[in-house]
Amino acid sequence: ISQTARRMQRVRPSPTATISDQVRELEVAGKAVINLGEGELDFATPAAISYAGIEAIIQQQTKYTAVAGTAVLKAAIAGKFARDNQLQFAPDEIIAGSGAKQLIFNALLATVDVGQQVIIPAPYWVSYPDMVTLAEGEPVIVPCDEQHGWKLQPAALAAALTAETRWVILNSPGNPTGAIYSAQELRALAAVLSDHPQVLIMADDIYEPLRYDQTPFATFAEVAPQLAHRTLTVNGVSKSHAMTGWRLGYAAGPRWLIAAMQVLQSQSTSNPSSIAQAAAVAALNQPADFLVGWLEKLDQRRQQVLAMVAAVDGLSASAPQGAFYVFANCQGLLGRQTPDGERIADDKALASWLLAEAQVAVLHGSAFGTPGYLRIAYAVDDALLATACQRLTAACGKLR
Ligand code: PLP
Repeated sequence: ISQTARRMQRVRPSPTATISDQVRELEVAGKAVINLGEGELDFATPAAISYAGIEAIIQQQTKYTAVAGTAVLKAAIAGKFARDNQLQFAPDEIIAGSGAKQLIFNALLATVDVGQQVIIPAPYWVSYPDMVTLAEGEPVIVPCDEQHGWKLQPAALAAALTAETRWVILNSPGNPTGAIYSAQELRALAAVLSDHPQVLIMADDIYEPLRYDQTPFATFAEVAPQLAHRTLTVNGVSKSHAMTGWRLGYAAGPRWLIAAMQVLQSQSTSNPSSIAQAAAVAALNQPADFLVGWLEKLDQRRQQVLAMVAAVDGLSASAPQGAFYVFANCQGLLGRQTPDGERIADDKALASWLLAEAQVAVLHGSAFGTPGYLRIAYAVDDALLATACQRLTAACGKLR
């Protein structure tokens, strides 16, 4: 008899967390593993933001707050949306939570009934399908291809929509591909969705400021105001301000949805940390001067990984426009043999072998719904990244 509830049979542990556990195990065993599997910037949280958190502790802002966030934080979030996205939100159309992840989960849990469908373009962020399943919904994975920049095409969306569709999830810049939807591409998707009034749209904009080659940013509610009443815009400070550990995300959308998410939050985690909220106020109200330097560094690293991938026989990748991942096609290496005569059958076997042989952790594309690829995260220290690239090149060169 299973000790756990039936719903646990529908959920898998996050593969990103699993790889990080494997890395820690190898480290404990004395191996110098370089982790290119983690979705986290190596930069420090900017000092002014950290000091705002320290100040909050000293000023005794260490008690429960309003469940959906303090008035000051909501004002800072409204200010961010007005400034960056030309979106106006009232306080009761905004909620802060313990990371964008919690808000996405609560939004799905609050709206998806048994058997209802959620359209998830693949490659997708690993957590979307499992969250839908936990909410007893049905993830509808729509494969997207590299030729179309990994972006959901209007015809594919139209074909996937049914009477049971509850949500479409859009993530731009995307994890794991870095794909960014243009305003025009979003408008084309909006045109398809106009005829399906029961469908909600989730715009996961968590990587918004991390873009290269001057690629402009647009978000769904901004370019399709006629559908703003059924759009939830999700964002947070994890990736924009190197604040993953603070656990602070936010979302804005229709009042009824925000109210429902707030009910779930009030009965589970309550308000996000009061200290993280104070730090997020500083993050959102101060100019992001540090970004220029960050983007310069990230761009160099992106070029470094792309050059490595291009030089390895069997790997290839198109340049990602945003985020901090290269999604590399590894099909040319599949079916080859290791020096020990082991056959590399698929992307998962390749990632495992690279971890053992090169002591570099990368994630297999099948974790993102797209087999035959590897996700290489490059938000790590320059010297480590250089070593990792050398080790990956050497290891791949051993496959025959
Ligand atoms: N959405 C995407 C696409 C992500 O990659 C992540 C983190 O990896 C999140 C949401 C969650 O961010 P957080 O919960 O740290 O705000």
